[in-house]
Amino acid sequence: MQAYIPNYNQTGTGILSGTLRRRAPQDGENAVSSIICEGAHFREDRREGIPKEWERHMAGNTPSVTLDQEINPWEAQSARFDFAARKLNLEAGLWKMLSTPSREIIVHFPVTLDSGQIEMFTGFRVQHSIARGPCKGGIRYAPDVTLDEVRALASWMTWKCAVVNIPFGGAKGGVICDPKKMSQGELERMTRRYTSEIIDFIGPEKDVPAPDMNTNEQTMAWIMDTYSMHMGHTVTSVVTGKPLNIGGSRGRIEATGRGVRVVCDESLRYLNLPIDGCRVVIQGFGNVGSNAARLMMEHGYKIVGIAERDGGLANPNGIDINQLIEYKYRNDTILGFRGAEATPSEELLESECEILIPAATENVITSRNADAIKARIVVEGANGPTTAVADEILADKRIFIVPDILANAGGVTASYFEWVQDRQGYFWKEAIVNEQLETILRDSFDDVVRYAEAHNVNNRIAAYMLAIDRVAFTIKQRGIYA
Ligand code: NAD
Repeated sequence: MQAYIPNYNQTGTGILSGTLRRRAPQDGENAVSSIICEGAHFREDRREGIPKEWERHMAGNTPSVTLDQEINPWEAQSARFDFAARKLNLEAGLWKMLSTPSREIIVHFPVTLDSGQIEMFTGFRVQHSIARGPCKGGIRYAPDVTLDEVRALASWMTWKCAVVNIPFGGAKGGVICDPKKMSQGELERMTRRYTSEIIDFIGPEKDVPAPDMNTNEQTMAWIMDTYSMHMGHTVTSVVTGKPLNIGGSRGRIEATGRGVRVVCDESLRYLNLPIDGCRVVIQGFGNVGSNAARLMMEHGYKIVGIAERDGGLANPNGIDINQLIEYKYRNDTILGFRGAEATPSEELLESECEILIPAATENVITSRNADAIKARIVVEGANGPTTAVADEILADKRIFIVPDILANAGGVTASYFEWVQDRQGYFWKEAIVNEQLETILRDSFDDVVRYAEAHNVNNRIAAYMLAIDRVAFTIKQRGIYA
């Protein structure tokens, strides 16, 4: 088996070949070290100056991957990008261009807290590529946001927009903060100041933010208003994911969940499996997870497990998702819901089902639990839920993966429709939005699986190859101003 291991120390990347085996963790090691690569040799490093650590691995020792290395999203993105680029025989210049974000903005800015004190916050906006159109990507608020994470998410947006063939490049933003400990007033002041710090770099033709983790329609309304105040007129198309009343699109809120449902339908069709009685476990019951669950239940799927941060629920006969949505709305948790049995979330991920949908956050399927996954199909509602090492293990188990850059692309597709509608000043019926979205997702699924068959690679690498191919072709057609 060939294992591609995430970049060790950001100076060297390559393919480590050998046999992946497991051994018991030694004293003081985390469980990840139990993955070893025997008979390892390292081939074709694309950069100069292979670090000393790699020489050891190239000599045939048994390297191990630490959890830190495995779960760094930028490393995960780079590992897949490098593998796909190599398969495509991508020219060196384009390789360098596409493996580097084109702009990384870091801002430190003050916000007045409710107490009257000033606190400093740090925000990021990374723009990966504008080759195919304005940058597009969400903004997340969380205490653990890092530049590497935002970088990875920005690149994923470039690949995602290219996979579904919409005219955007990729970007992402984030602010280090704990939104759960902030009042609405503090969140509003932070959002407006962050917007003003990056205002020269965003705009309908430059970079169009959207909601992501812990940001929502209200956040987008504040960004739109701040931008408009600076411009001196209302500019609705500067962000997507806005409230309907100020230029939002019908169907946007459930669009990511709808896309997840469509690719589940297509996966079953491709594998010749029935929807009827198909058991589904979903991790995360937020925007993506709850909408996917509801739409899938309405479509005949049986949602047998929901795993949340604070615990999970299981019911082999299917959970009534409408009741659970109402319960969560009232109680702000799924715990205590009577229509299912309380079950630890980790157990649910490893339970018997046909489809597993990680729809919460990154790095939930790693070398620690990939071997225990029993689902036939994994559909990545979240961004980056599977590490590169786990990919290898799932591939070994013949699990069919619908990668994030395809599976959760329904959100950015509906965002594209919102941007188009704002610029037209003409708003579509919800049925039109849903129909166009389903057509794009179905066609994109088809493109990816055909590409995988034609190039004898798995769906993730096929999606990357297809995306890189499209972006590289556009860059060549435009010519490089260098
Ligand atoms: P959200 O904040 O609405 O929901 C996330 C849910 O996951 C929450 O209920 C949270 O409690 C739960 N959660 C967080 N960590 C968890 C863990 N370790 N185990 C179990 N549950 C956990 O966020 P969302 O908008 O639904 O986004 C979820 C994922 O989907 C993120 O990776 C996001 O980047 C991605 N995504 C979202 C959209 C969108 O349109 N919202 C589009 C594309 C991708």
